[in-house]
Amino acid sequence: VWSCIPHTTNICSNHSFDTFPPHSGSSSVLSSLKTLTLNGYFTFDNLEHAANDFGNIFHYLPTAVLHPKSVSDISSTIKHIMGMDSATKLSVAARGRGHSLQGQAQAYGGVVINMESLEVEGPGIFVETSEVPYVDVSGGELWVNVLHETLKYGLSPKSWTDYLHLTVGGTLSNAGISGQAFRHGPQINNVYQLQVVTGTFKENSNSIISWKRAKLKSNSKRNIEFTDYGKLNELTTQQWNLTGDLNVGRGEVITCSDTKNADLFYGVLGGLGQFGIITRARISLGPAKKMVSKEIVFVNRGSHRHWASNRIYVDRTGLLNSWRSSFNPKNPIQASQFSSDGKLLYCLEMVKYYNPEKMDGLNQDIEELLSELNYIPSTLFLSEVSYVEFLDRVRMSEIKLRSKGLWEVPHPWLNLLIPKSRILDFAREVFGKIVKDSSNGPILIYPFNKAKWNNRTSMVTPEEDIIYLVAFLPSAPPLSTGTEGLEHIMTQNKRILDFCTKARLGAKQYLPHYRTQDEWRAHFGTHWETFAQRKSAYDPFAILAPGQRIFQKAV
Ligand code: FAD
Repeated sequence: VWSCIPHTTNICSNHSFDTFPPHSGSSSVLSSLKTLTLNGYFTFDNLEHAANDFGNIFHYLPTAVLHPKSVSDISSTIKHIMGMDSATKLSVAARGRGHSLQGQAQAYGGVVINMESLEVEGPGIFVETSEVPYVDVSGGELWVNVLHETLKYGLSPKSWTDYLHLTVGGTLSNAGISGQAFRHGPQINNVYQLQVVTGTFKENSNSIISWKRAKLKSNSKRNIEFTDYGKLNELTTQQWNLTGDLNVGRGEVITCSDTKNADLFYGVLGGLGQFGIITRARISLGPAKKMVSKEIVFVNRGSHRHWASNRIYVDRTGLLNSWRSSFNPKNPIQASQFSSDGKLLYCLEMVKYYNPEKMDGLNQDIEELLSELNYIPSTLFLSEVSYVEFLDRVRMSEIKLRSKGLWEVPHPWLNLLIPKSRILDFAREVFGKIVKDSSNGPILIYPFNKAKWNNRTSMVTPEEDIIYLVAFLPSAPPLSTGTEGLEHIMTQNKRILDFCTKARLGAKQYLPHYRTQDEWRAHFGTHWETFAQRKSAYDPFAILAPGQRIFQKAV
């Protein structure tokens, strides 16, 4: 179990990792950071911002924040930290937009790198319009800026998240999933190349791994499991003294792709920031349509047929009313008379991209799609919006929530990937018995065909061809109590997770959060060994992305 320092807030008092006491970095460490020659700069005071995130539940104060202006600032800082002795070596967390939920982009007593300040050489966002178009962007760039820039060339990335004010490096460290992923795979499957600053790097990292494996065998009479990370760490420290012999680089800037340094490339994609810091990404583009036709219908019961559609909301309360005010009902009279009577309803959202100058057959296509669905006719809502408006749709909600002081509140979100064979069991128990009220946030369900996903990345998914992302997205404003209170929602999340484990659903968390390494091992399953090997090759002292709490920093 991770060591735990008493928290200083009473939010969620029965959870042990909430807020750490202020940390005062040792003065020699601070002064050593000040000696670095950088294009950007460090800040050492007023660091509370770096100890917060969208989740607003976990708060770990760093010692310093680096505001890099160049990739070499990041590389020099990591090189410098790797050169510190084990006792003072600082942890390092890249922070994109800080829209993590449980402190994943924080570094208690360490260095947080503010990736948004990174400037890359040449045009910040470079669009290549050749036959295989792509865009080169900084790891700290926001997806919304990538969208606006690529649209100038009639192009756009193919796969998105629902919300675009997230950084490229932040979503590529997870997966990046939205309605397009059933067709194009998640964002991590739409990347051609990355530039990464690793903790350590050797041209053929496998040689380090084989060296350690051989050492472990010869050093021990016991048959030590290779994934015994503690042992690997010990060995790493010994090995480090031999660094000259092994010629291992520290804080190296590495370009990687499917054909060059592929192990690093696939490790970093979905790698939860464990193997290096993404400073640049080359993302695949496709032709962009200008408009989006959006259809929303309600169904009483989810069936596989419905759940093969684009995206589904679960509604028990007021969602229908809010659709009424934002969309045009196909039949206004029937729509105004329809009442859900508090029953569980599934709301299907379908979209079709099109260009206004080529609308022939659009309505027919939509009619055909709808005719295959057994929906409640009076609940058909339509709307037409621009491509940008559609993709940036959550921004409008953000602005409204911010104006009411309801954006920067705790968000005890839970995202799960459920295999198709067990989705109905999940729905029966979770929507039928555990989540009795969804008034404090939507529940989204996205179906995916895994054939479109590249399984060489670090991301782990259930072992089936069709999986569903089920996202519970509540907020818990400070004074909320009862079913809307943080305590209640967190208990409910735990019940859902316990049910998944007990019923052996084969579910995986997306944006995972665990407290022990055993839980992480279970999460990665047969992929754990590869994940741990990569950690020992690229970040042997476990200084990177400590907020994920997968590996403990070597001391
Ligand atoms: P951060 O929170 O800053 O960082 C996340 C992790 O990545 C940390 O461990 C950090 O250390 C690491 N990291 C950050 N930058 C880098 C880098 N350059 N190199 C290496 N590691 C790095 N996700 C989806 O998939 N689909 C959605 O539709 C979706 N919608 C969302 C809507 C909202 C309102 C919010 C708040 C989140 C949503 N997410 C969604 C989750 C989101 O994708 C992740 O939380 C993502 O990590 C946030 O990006 P960020 O830039 O804020 O990353």
